[in-house]
Parts: sequence; C-alpha cells; structure tokens
Amino acid sequence: KARAALSSWIGPGRTANGLPVKLLANVADGPSSLSSSEAPVEGVGLFRTELCFLNRAEEPSVEEQADIYAAVLEPFKGKGYVVVRTLDAGSDKPVAFATHEGEENPALGVRGLRLSFDNPGLLERQLDAIALAAERTGTETWVMAPMVATVAEAREFADSVRNRGLKAGVMVEVPSAALLAPRMLEVVDFLSIGTNDLTQYTMAADRMATDLAHLTDPWQPAVLQLIAITAEAGRHAGKPVGVCGEAAADPLLACALVGMGVTSLSMAAAAVRPVGARLASTTFEQCEDVAEAALGADDPAAGRAAVLALLAG
Ligand code: PEP
Ligand code: MG
Repeated sequence: KARAALSSWIGPGRTANGLPVKLLANVADGPSSLSSSEAPVEGVGLFRTELCFLNRAEEPSVEEQADIYAAVLEPFKGKGYVVVRTLDAGSDKPVAFATHEGEENPALGVRGLRLSFDNPGLLERQLDAIALAAERTGTETWVMAPMVATVAEAREFADSVRNRGLKAGVMVEVPSAALLAPRMLEVVDFLSIGTNDLTQYTMAADRMATDLAHLTDPWQPAVLQLIAITAEAGRHAGKPVGVCGEAAADPLLACALVGMGVTSLSMAAAAVRPVGARLASTTFEQCEDVAEAALGADDPAAGRAAVLALLAG
C-alpha cells in the first residue's frame, strides 16, 4: 500500500484522513534551497547557516550575510516559510571566527547559542542580516536558536528576533529544553526538535561515535518520551512544534511523531516523498497507536517491529 502511494503522492503533507502535517526541507545554502523548492514541501524547516561559513576565516559582513540568506529565502517566496537557524558553531561544526579553541569536551562546551551570546554583536549582526534578507525577498521568515538549555536563553533570543519583526523559536536539542517545553512556549512562537543532538544528550552518547549507534538511535524510548512531552506542550499552547533531525526522515518514525502531536517534519529533500507517501496512507488514529507502541517499547528494535506490525495490515 505504501509503495503504491509513493508513486501517486504529490503533496502537500496530510495523513490518510486529512490532518495537515507540514513537510519541510533541510537546506545548507542557496543552491540546495533552490533544488529543494522543486520537492513537494511547504517551506524550509532548517537552514543550517553555519554550513555557509565552515571555510571562512573572518565573519562575513552583514551585507554579505544578507546576500547569502536571501539566496536561500528567494526560492520559497510565496511558496512557504523558511526557518533560519542562527549560527550553530562549535563541536562537530567548528567555525573559525567563532569557535572556542581547546575545550576538553566541545559537545558540552560553548557551542550553538552559547557561542553567539559569548561573542559580542555576533548574534545581533546575524539577525540584522536575516531581517534584511527577509525584507528584500518578502519570504516569510522564522528564526530559531540551536542548543538552548534555559528559558532565560530562549527569552533573550526571542526578544532580539521579535525586535526585528520576525517569528522566534528555539530548538529542543537538550533534555532540559524538552522538560521545560511548556515554559519555553510561553516566551517563543514555536519549537523545533533536533533529534540528532537530543538523542546524543539524552543517551550520553556521542553522535559521531559509530560504535554507539545502538544508543544514538532516535527510536530510543527515552528520546521519544522527551519528544512526546514537547509535542504535548505545543498542542496545549496551540503553537507549532516540528522535528528537524534525522528522525523526521524515517517514514515509520515520522508516523509516531505525528501521533505524538508534532505539526511539521523537516528533512533532506530526498526523504520527503517516502515520508509523505507513508503519512498519506496512515490515519491520525493509526499514528497515535504507533506513537504509543514506540513509546512503550523496551528498545529501538522492538519499537520498529511493533510499529511495522501495526502498519502492515
Ligand atoms: C539536530 O541536532 O537534530 C539538528 C537538526 O541539528 P544538527 O544536526 O545540525 O546539529
Ligand atoms: Mg543539533
């Protein structure tokens, strides 16, 4: 059934009984945004701005940054919104002009939003450039921060973003942010769950360590519980909660996420059709059953098997 749906599904994202689920693209730059705009997506759920600067020794000027961001926004003008993530430098994504040298444990160090706050003016200049690009292109632009751990960080970030007339959100990548989701939602417009880092920090397992793949698996029930808490908070607040980590690209897990109340799924453009087709052949009630099975499983393998059995009929 899913295979038949794959050949006929053309978007937009819906469950079999018509519940809208926004399917969005993860992009790295202008060219990838342009090619993603050909996919059946309703926007960009994650523009990783740091990937534009990995080979730069100096921070680009506000003007140059605005040009780079506008190239990402432009293809989605009138077609959907673009979620721009502010610099997620440090740890696995070192950026020469921002990253702290010599940290003993960079994944737990000054990275993501911590780094932006630590470099006077860095965040403000990036937000100025994003606002300029939004104004020039006319594309609906949301802005979110990576690696947020406290409500105070979320509030400070959101104030800076809203001062520029843009929608503000934070990523849920640290277990503290998931646990505090209801309070985070009091100060931001949306949340976006980064399951790659959320899994790393929940399981205390390095996302780059291939020998820990059994732990760095978003099907881990502890990770799913944190996602469920976050999605439930979004439902209660009436605000969007998306997933933009690898979990969103797994068609079976995507059904579980929707069943938990996640409102958007953002992934590499190549994953959109399999996910969209699977959702289109699954009712929301089935998604809820699937979520319950995945949450209740002892481990990822049992979760996958249970979900597959539920959807096989
Ligand atoms: C994540 O952590 O899940 C995420 C989307 O961000 P990144 O993979 O860029 O760290
Ligand atoms: Mg991350």
